[in-house]
Amino acid sequence: MLPYATAAEAEAALGRAMTPVEALWFRYTAAVPDYHLYCCNILFLFVVFTLAPLPVALLELRAPTAVAPYKLQPRVRLSKAEFARCYKDVLRIFFFVIGPLQLVSYPAVKVRLASPSSVNLCNMVGIHTRLPLPSLGEIAAQLLVYFLVEDYLNYWIHRLLHGEWGYQKIHRVHHEFTAPIGFAAPYAHWAEVLILGIPSFVGPAIAPGHMITFWLWIVFRQVEAIETHSGFDFPFTPTKYIPFYGGAEYHDYHHYVGGQSQSNFASVFTYCDYIYGTDKGYRFHKAYLAKLKALGQNDGMKGDDDGFSNAKLD
Ligand SMILES: [Zn+2]
Ligand SMILES: [Zn+2]
Repeated sequence: MLPYATAAEAEAALGRAMTPVEALWFRYTAAVPDYHLYCCNILFLFVVFTLAPLPVALLELRAPTAVAPYKLQPRVRLSKAEFARCYKDVLRIFFFVIGPLQLVSYPAVKVRLASPSSVNLCNMVGIHTRLPLPSLGEIAAQLLVYFLVEDYLNYWIHRLLHGEWGYQKIHRVHHEFTAPIGFAAPYAHWAEVLILGIPSFVGPAIAPGHMITFWLWIVFRQVEAIETHSGFDFPFTPTKYIPFYGGAEYHDYHHYVGGQSQSNFASVFTYCDYIYGTDKGYRFHKAYLAKLKALGQNDGMKGDDDGFSNAKLD
């Protein structure tokens, strides 16, 4: 909730006229409690989990031949019922874990208005809703920090989850899909959802930002996860131009190898796996496929460049 009763008061406090975007923000949020704005994340997540995987899923179900050249594991075809079961399980996780977590996590993320210098367990992150709104450059810089921090922490948590106990008790659920689909991005044991949710708040705690930045962070992170689990490597994917970005093929290989996988642990970028030497299996595999292609063999795959061979070289 903004501490101004009118737009004139807000502009007086800013010392300038509001930009059109700030005027919109003032109009729609000035009287809305911050907690309600924070809870918009629940709606955004529901929309993203439901709509973002839908175009690729519909293409796969309705036009499998047209998209087959881009499918990473063309031999795997899931039925409509399997897609529906995955979405239903994700909704269960959403309503029983993700949604409630959003509702109760607000005390940890709210801005330290009452005592700006204090840091305690009840206000660790410091998301604010005030004016002025951040510039596009500030938002982009903060999002980059959030992605880098989360990627690094997720790499190590994910790697630990591939230990015997972590895999059998928790991470095995996420690997039920050896050929992932977009809907399966949040498909995981409830404990994994909680554990891997923590790094999402570390970036905002290091570089506290505006509520708008936090909304964008939550949405972009989930859209990214859905894209990397899509099971398709489309040539026109814009994320291909992001340096060190892993993408669908990179993470699909991790699912393809399965529980024994000691390769491609990172969720967003490739640099952690490169630095810590956990992309060797993947690189060897890519080299093997390139060799097969050069020899004119494709190991029975649909195309010569469209997926993984039978050899699990992790
Ligand atoms: Zn894994
Ligand atoms: Zn995955």
